[in-house]
Amino acid sequence: MKVVVIDHPRDHCMEHFNDVANAPLSASLNSGYACAVATQCGCEVEHLDFLSMPATADQIARRVCSGEPDLVLFHWVYDWGDGQVVTETIANIKREAGLVLIGAFGFFPTFCGTDLLEANAGLDFVLTGEFEGALTDFLSGNCDLSGDGIRTRNGFRPRPPTSDPDLLPWPEDVGKTADLMHLNVAASRGCYGNCTFCCIGPFYSCGAWRPRAVERVREEIEHRLSARKLSQVYFVDPNFMGPGRAGQDRTLHMASELRNLDLTFGLEARVNDIEPDTVAALKDAGLRSVFLGVESGSQAVLKRMRKGITPDQSSRAISILRAADVNVIVGFIMFEPDSTITDLQDNFDFLQQNNLLSQHSLTANVLYHSQIILKGTPSFTHYTERGQLTVSKEAPYEGRVRYRDEKVGTIADCMQDLTLHYFRHVTGQRAGVQDGEEWCAGHAEQDDRINSILCSTFRDMLRSANKPNGHLQDIAEQGISDLTAVFASQERVNQPSL
Ligand code: SF4
Repeated sequence: MKVVVIDHPRDHCMEHFNDVANAPLSASLNSGYACAVATQCGCEVEHLDFLSMPATADQIARRVCSGEPDLVLFHWVYDWGDGQVVTETIANIKREAGLVLIGAFGFFPTFCGTDLLEANAGLDFVLTGEFEGALTDFLSGNCDLSGDGIRTRNGFRPRPPTSDPDLLPWPEDVGKTADLMHLNVAASRGCYGNCTFCCIGPFYSCGAWRPRAVERVREEIEHRLSARKLSQVYFVDPNFMGPGRAGQDRTLHMASELRNLDLTFGLEARVNDIEPDTVAALKDAGLRSVFLGVESGSQAVLKRMRKGITPDQSSRAISILRAADVNVIVGFIMFEPDSTITDLQDNFDFLQQNNLLSQHSLTANVLYHSQIILKGTPSFTHYTERGQLTVSKEAPYEGRVRYRDEKVGTIADCMQDLTLHYFRHVTGQRAGVQDGEEWCAGHAEQDDRINSILCSTFRDMLRSANKPNGHLQDIAEQGISDLTAVFASQERVNQPSL
């Protein structure tokens, strides 16, 4: 059987220039896992990467049909739009090769499968949630579409995820992921958390964290690195460390295995799992960076998010990592729909106290993120039930909620305008900047000035929020104009003299 796995082109959306929440990082391995499963089932497999090399729907369909596949699988990722390219591609393939079966998998099809099947007559099925088991059964069972975990127009029966992720084949290195300067690896699946904004638990249909055997992870890294000259690994697990003492012990075991590989690596973790002895062992094994799910400096917001942590725990985790000389990147949601001005002030104070507002590239990130409400998350259900969610027909994966406090909504809009102005400039200047490096103006004085404008604009809006004539938009416009002046002065400095 001939199987084609497709990564489709994705539109760039300026409004979401810096948002990564359309799919978790672990999704970067989805196509690789799909290829590995199909290969294991004895199929002839081709991966087509239109993410790196964009093409029109016509071109993609022609390329796909030229290989005369029996099955076409789209790793369909929400790109903040209506997915028109994929829709047209599916229609074109069906027109040219009517008998070919077309399926989709990934986070977006999992939560919007019914909508996608309705809107795409040529789409035959959707693999829902953790797809590897359903795909294996499908490929080894004469393409039976009635199996668990496969959604069709005739219905759907859920399928529990595998209890042992080590039963899955190792992912193939394909597409854009294979071109990275580091190797993406999943050492576990799922998460034991239950955060309202997160789709990890609903995707896997369980609130469990499923670790892989440490030795198997090491073997996979060694195997995949044998074909690529890389010395960096990134663990894409939503939550690298498991809960409690058992989670810490496994992390220590993992550190002892990784130490022998002579690698550097990064990972993502919950703040309550960060402990000095484990971090020291990981650092010794090559740990360089940790993405921490801090999310908020307000206890009230953390409670509403069901994050299960306190701001003090976040401060402690940041201190432990910095003391071990590990780079800390924080996930932070400044604007949650039910936030008050006090919550924003708590956030700002937390960021200042933890020295998270000292570099403009980081400042811009932590001061502007609004909570993104995607279908499948507990928040989407919560706001739908309260009648507060607006969903457009064109983009049913994402909902919009009015801020409970109008002034919080105004500040969120103003900060988005300000930071988009910043990000647009950064995008133009980033050419030549290496993967992983942050852009800087190149002059300490200008970098400080940019950072100071971002911080002071936010702070001034907070101070003015409860005044009768706060003029929040005027403050934001002043910030934009101040940034424009710094960017112009930077261009003058960078111009070659005649
Ligand atoms: S801790 Fe992270 S991965 Fe786990 S549920 Fe919360 S946001 Fe999701």
